Amino acid sequence: MSITAVGSTSFTALAAEALADEDPELNALLDAELAGQRDTLAMVAYASLAAPSVLACGASALANLTAEGYPGQRYHPGCERLDAVEELAVSRAKAAFGARYANVQPHSCSSANLAVLFSLLDPGDTLLGLDLDSGGHLTHGSPASVTGRYFNAVAYGLGPDGLIDHDQVRDLALRHRPKVIVAGASAYPRAFDYPAFRAIADEAGAYLLADISHIAGLVAGGVLPSPIDHAHVTTTSTYKQLGGPRGGLILSGAEHLSSGPSGGLPLARRLDRAVFPASQGTLHPAGIAAKARALALVAAPEFRELAARIALDARELAAALAGLGWRVLTGGTETHMVLLDTAARGLPGGAAERALESAGILANRNRIPRDAGHPGRTSGLRFGTNVLAQRGMGPAEMRHCAVLADRVLNSLEAPGLVLPAGLRRSVRHEVAALCTRFPVPGYSA
Ligand SMILES: *Cc1c(COP(=O)(O)O)cnc(C)c1O
Repeated sequence: MSITAVGSTSFTALAAEALADEDPELNALLDAELAGQRDTLAMVAYASLAAPSVLACGASALANLTAEGYPGQRYHPGCERLDAVEELAVSRAKAAFGARYANVQPHSCSSANLAVLFSLLDPGDTLLGLDLDSGGHLTHGSPASVTGRYFNAVAYGLGPDGLIDHDQVRDLALRHRPKVIVAGASAYPRAFDYPAFRAIADEAGAYLLADISHIAGLVAGGVLPSPIDHAHVTTTSTYKQLGGPRGGLILSGAEHLSSGPSGGLPLARRLDRAVFPASQGTLHPAGIAAKARALALVAAPEFRELAARIALDARELAAALAGLGWRVLTGGTETHMVLLDTAARGLPGGAAERALESAGILANRNRIPRDAGHPGRTSGLRFGTNVLAQRGMGPAEMRHCAVLADRVLNSLEAPGLVLPAGLRRSVRHEVAALCTRFPVPGYSA
């Protein structure tokens, strides 16, 4: 792989050389991926770019260790240096989010959510989360997830304005008395009111779990309010907006030493046990090193500027698309995310996604509230600005991107809703020019 890692050790450079020499077939595929990322506008909400120094951790010899348990209490010998790495990752996670407790071992945010839910709830207990079609996540109680099968999952939806209706959440909480309420979403472009959720949780005698998987960077960067001291527990992914490796975090704030509404062990103890031994085995040593590196970057002042640019770009993109006649859900955004109702213009989300991809623009089809009751239908398209903002693009480029997307989506021809070849070439050309002007930082040829 020919990423020139700024600050890489000679070891990682040698490792990359060895791969190129020993396995040219695989190496060519990895190089092609790098080229693809450089030449594509990744306007997706669920990704960010890892800095080369984060990627280098994944290629380190720490990956050869196997360990279970926590620093100082391992079930395997030879973990002294890993202990130091994990302690560093934990302290950086706490610093980045102003948390008092952090567990850096979850292999993903889904694993983190399962660990938390299975430790706070018994099978059959009631869980209240945002409905999947309203933007919630599978692990918040969807029937397609174990969380919907092992718990009595109740879902809140959105009000007619597309916003969370706290009266509805409160009514459901007082009627069903959930043990856990989840405040978090995968496709909701507005800020959560964590104090309002906490007041409802307290009234109902429930734990509040904030899942900031999508918005963790905006929270750490001070753009969105932090749930850390309002929720009993907060979970996130590390690769979506934190520029980190695939993985998750569990965080807790002021109440990490309390046991919460159901009593029992202090939360910090319970959460550690929930990850290991209750739901995971060995940890991912190189992944934890990569989390430590990414979290150091998240805590640096430049990250606040990036977070502000991500949000500014998203507002501009939403306004530009609305100005071009597209129905933007909730009328705008407070996050990195812009949701379009493509079906309002007669276009299924899947066809929109494919046409944009053919022109070098990535945005994913998404179920939106109008799809409720129609399995398999996706009427929406979800855009995000994390990657473009990391490449340094600002409001002017967002207006340009909106025009390009609009041109593609307005030109699909029946049957099959495909983009005519001439137009595809001309948009691809403009996409390539933008990508050249705004290269991926740190990834040189
Ligand atoms: C993506 C997402 C998850 C799952 O994250 P993974 O790290 O991919 O398992 C959990 N919750 C929300 C709200 C998400 O958007």
